[in-house]
Amino acid sequence: MPIKSLAIICVHASPLARLGGDKAGGMNVYVRELAQEFGSRGIQVDIFTRYTHPDTPQIDMSLGNQVRVISLEAGPRAPMQPNDVIGHLQQFTRQLIDFVANQGMRYDLIHSHYWLSGVVAHQLRENWGTPFVQMFHTLGQMKNRITNSLPVTPSLPDIRVTYETKVVEWADALIAATRAEYTQLLWLYRADRRKIEIIPPGYNPDLFYPTDMESARRSIGATKTRHIFVFVGRLEPLKAIDSILEALSLIAQSRQDLLLSMELIVVGGNLDDHDPELNRLKALTTQLQVEEQVRFIGSQEHSRLRELYAAATAVLMPSDYESFGMVALEAMASGAPVIASEVGGLAYLVKDEETGFLVPSREPAELAAHMVDIMENPDLQRRMSKAAVQAAAQYSWGNIADQLEVVFQQAIMKTITNRRMSSEYP
Ligand code: UDP
Repeated sequence: MPIKSLAIICVHASPLARLGGDKAGGMNVYVRELAQEFGSRGIQVDIFTRYTHPDTPQIDMSLGNQVRVISLEAGPRAPMQPNDVIGHLQQFTRQLIDFVANQGMRYDLIHSHYWLSGVVAHQLRENWGTPFVQMFHTLGQMKNRITNSLPVTPSLPDIRVTYETKVVEWADALIAATRAEYTQLLWLYRADRRKIEIIPPGYNPDLFYPTDMESARRSIGATKTRHIFVFVGRLEPLKAIDSILEALSLIAQSRQDLLLSMELIVVGGNLDDHDPELNRLKALTTQLQVEEQVRFIGSQEHSRLRELYAAATAVLMPSDYESFGMVALEAMASGAPVIASEVGGLAYLVKDEETGFLVPSREPAELAAHMVDIMENPDLQRRMSKAAVQAAAQYSWGNIADQLEVVFQQAIMKTITNRRMSSEYP
């Protein structure tokens, strides 16, 4: 039975949000790209999200004919911390149910993202009898474990973990991005293993493909230095950009010759606003005396990233925690070796010594050593670049959507069978 319609619930992360600030990142991209992929297959996709701006139209169709982004009230029309949205979920759910009733819509399946949307999806399931498939993107218990071991960020309140545990139980199926997340769902949340499928996020092959490094460097105006390292992401402490700056400082102390021929481009953050994380990083750059080597260019359009990745000797991702790490995948597809910490999805994506290097997190000396390796060995860089493109190919959104459709079909069939059984044997 082909799927005709999908309701995607993404309460606090709009697929239309500007990427690379401190909040909008991988989950926003995931929802946008997947919705477009399903839309292109003739499936009607409605994405429900909260208003975060007074002027947003209620229905936006800029993602294609089959895809609607529908905004609903949930508290003030302004960005909000995820934990503050919980008090407005009832309001959101009520409006969603009314909107769908007024439009006479019905959906074959609900696909919900992050724990907040899982709470909404459960209520919709109660109302409509429609199955829901949940993807968490990050898990509170994992974030707590990491942040508790670091002085940089406060740990998250338990309300998140309490709800996550319930959503794990309520959902018809759970999507884990990696085998690590599968294990975390089993052991930390006591999930039913039969409900979990491992399906990673993907990348868009029309946006990310290999480009000649020299022409990429010319087009981003980076011709002065021989080696460019690139970081792309939301500027938040768990991305551990500090480690990159510390690695640069170590290179400055031991390899002055190399330092003069290299540059780090940091993509992400808001250059206009007073972005506290950006200001902290700039101050650290000055303190470590590497400001000459670092260029903060703020967040960039997704479509502009390919050239930045392709211009890079390597893309750096030394995060403390990364449930997947879509930047690493996009970089690989664009032909950049990736030097990443061996955490979460990065440990699966990056093949150590083949498509880049895996390093322990918060070990700037190891990061520096591999940055030097790759700068001094152009053949290694080229070999890794080729291997990275090949390794990324399996993750196109088309492949990922195929795998998800199978899970969706199974969840729909299971619901139909259960309904039949309970009407025949009440
Ligand atoms: N991104 C972007 N512009 C930016 C910064 C990030 O388009 O200035 C995109 C990036 O290309 C990737 C996503 O935001 O698709 C970040 O996803 P990732 O999984 O790496 O990190 P997360 O945000 O989930 O921690």
